[in-house]
Amino acid sequence: MIAIYPGSFDPITLGHLDLIERATRLFSRVIVAVLRNPNKTPLFTVEQRLKQIISATSHLPSVEVDSFDGLTVNYAQMRQAGVLLRGLRAVSDFEIELQMAHTNKTLSTQVETVFLATSNEHSFLSSSVVKEIARFGGSVDHLVPPHIATDIYQCYSQIPLWENPMTTPRE
Ligand code: ADP
Repeated sequence: MIAIYPGSFDPITLGHLDLIERATRLFSRVIVAVLRNPNKTPLFTVEQRLKQIISATSHLPSVEVDSFDGLTVNYAQMRQAGVLLRGLRAVSDFEIELQMAHTNKTLSTQVETVFLATSNEHSFLSSSVVKEIARFGGSVDHLVPPHIATDIYQCYSQIPLWENPMTTPRE
């Protein structure tokens, strides 16, 4: 069975990676699919994220990394995947994820959404949390793979403080 793991992965965290590793034990192939979402302004381009995910999953031979746009179920059908994989961290995830799973079911009865619960130690972890810590100069070494931490530090060292609404000095 082929599973698609769709998301923004801006950037991929150890929480995502843990989910991917566990999914490789359940599915013959796991396609990590970066959504090209014109409604979001990401920290990393889709191409940068693809490179980051490819190197973070290079030890997992059954993982493929790709990007897509449009409806996730259409992409899943195009890739002949029977499963959409999503992670659940907290009750707050559940509501939106359930709505999304039901919506996708109305679009295609061929694709099942499968939820994997986060590991305890990653239950607080999100890409936004990582970016928030790094933006204020904190260490994210324990939250993302090493090469991605380097990318993040480099990225924030290039963003001028006055372009960051959180640090704009008061007049
Ligand atoms: P999206 O914008 O689609 O939510 P994300 O990259 O934020 O994209 O997340 C992709 C998927 O990974 C979602 O199902 C999310 O719930 C899950 N996820 C994110 N962080 C974790 C984590 N720490 N543990 C388990 N699942 C996670």
